[in-house]
Amino acid sequence: MDMQRVIQAFERNRYDVRVFHTGEEAADYLDMVIDGKTVGFGDSETLISLGLYSRLRTHNRVFDPKHPEEGKNFTETARECMLTDVFLTSVNGASETGIMVNMDGMGNRAGASLFGHKKVFFVFGVNKLRPTLEEAIRRIKNEAAPKNALRHGYTDTGCVRSDRRCHDCSSPNRICNAMVIYYKKMKRTEAEVIIIEENLGL
Ligand code: SF4
Repeated sequence: MDMQRVIQAFERNRYDVRVFHTGEEAADYLDMVIDGKTVGFGDSETLISLGLYSRLRTHNRVFDPKHPEEGKNFTETARECMLTDVFLTSVNGASETGIMVNMDGMGNRAGASLFGHKKVFFVFGVNKLRPTLEEAIRRIKNEAAPKNALRHGYTDTGCVRSDRRCHDCSSPNRICNAMVIYYKKMKRTEAEVIIIEENLGL
């Protein structure tokens, strides 16, 4: 993969872009630039692996559905994430042509990534990158989404019940209810793409 070409593709789509060799370096950078803000988290294995929740909460007001405050649940905390200064999310797939994709079951992550914040950080490992948008979507349907369904223990979904490939199921636990394609940066919201040269997340 020609990383310079990938960076230029995202920059053409109006994103600020930074590439880090390791998750630790990316976490150090985010911990430095996000300070004194309200911060919302999208439900993400990549962000968990970076340990950002515990680091950022020492000098920011942080909302993470994975760590609801006392007396609140996942959904209530996800609502609080909708209007924070900063929103942190990963993506399920991205193309070397500078397009990102998120598949969502509840909509908290996809919805919050589109509007409501001063700045959104999209953080992902190189394992999420595919040459084209079509291949990135194929990766989501046949790799990421089945693993995600399994991680959540949704044993009644088509992919978990069968061969770990998407069967466009109708399970109430289906995690693929909406797909957001980020063709370009949204208007009036700052957005930064953080690419990490490691395999992270699903
Ligand atoms: S639509 Fe259903 S079968 Fe397809 S990946 Fe999503 S949960 Fe699995």
